[in-house]
Amino acid sequence: MSRAAFEARFPDEAACAAHLFARRWPDGFICPVCGGSKGWPLSGKRFTFECAGCGRQTSVTAGTVMHRSHLPLKTWFTAVHIVTSHSNGISALQLQAQLGLGSYKTAWLLLHKLRRAMVDPERRPLVDLVEFDETMIPLRSKDDPPGGGRGRSTVGKALVAGAVELSPDGHARRIRLAPLTDASAASLHPFVASVAAPGARVVTDGWSGYLSLTDHPHTAKIVGKMAAHIVLAWSHRVFANLKRWALGVFHGLRRPHLRRYLDEFVFRWNRRRHTAAAFDSLLGLGTRLAPATYRDFVDQRV
Ligand SMILES: [Zn+2]
Repeated sequence: MSRAAFEARFPDEAACAAHLFARRWPDGFICPVCGGSKGWPLSGKRFTFECAGCGRQTSVTAGTVMHRSHLPLKTWFTAVHIVTSHSNGISALQLQAQLGLGSYKTAWLLLHKLRRAMVDPERRPLVDLVEFDETMIPLRSKDDPPGGGRGRSTVGKALVAGAVELSPDGHARRIRLAPLTDASAASLHPFVASVAAPGARVVTDGWSGYLSLTDHPHTAKIVGKMAAHIVLAWSHRVFANLKRWALGVFHGLRRPHLRRYLDEFVFRWNRRRHTAAAFDSLLGLGTRLAPATYRDFVDQRV
């Protein structure tokens, strides 16, 4: 959807609310408490409907990323359009400028709420053949300016685990990424178990942390004198893309929120060939997210 098409489709608050209503109640209002189908919009509370049967009030934004936000729906919709139509995404600083938001913090929180909606809690584990590997990615420190610039230092690196699901003809399908504390079996085995379905065949470079997996047949491709990028070609391509993205869009990622940025990269990679569904999934439609505040994100409670 082009920006012009987006503006024509969602010109104002009412159009955004109508979209949420249609997705939530395709066959008309249904009360989430009593199941009654009779209700009316409340004049005093925006986009809220009251059940004629039990009196329960339900907002069209309940369970979405927008719930209890003070920002206009149009701002949220525009942000989702920008985030899903830029193949590489956007930094909080850029989003603040594009939306004309008053503060960097508002843009930052908005993007983190969207990243939270990027992980489908019911996503299926990886199957068939799955490459596993780890990489180090450079980090940006808290004191570095968000826009980059002079004096920026790289204060460290983070270890990241990656998994790439391969089709029978050897092409990458879906990926998963996660921060790792170290590359020991105690760290890697739980990652394998959390992303690969039992019985999926695991391919690695033979690192000791992957040995003696119990639920997965394991093929170790010993690197030896052969370059590692030939043995685990897709993992290396994903990691190279991840590093370019982290530097290009964000001037390096920061450790406290590394998991969320990895989630965003995974979301973009897994939807690289079908972006149409991304718009609704980023709004949080269908996922029933509990509301989260700025502190929830800073303290990493969500
Ligand atoms: Zn009711």
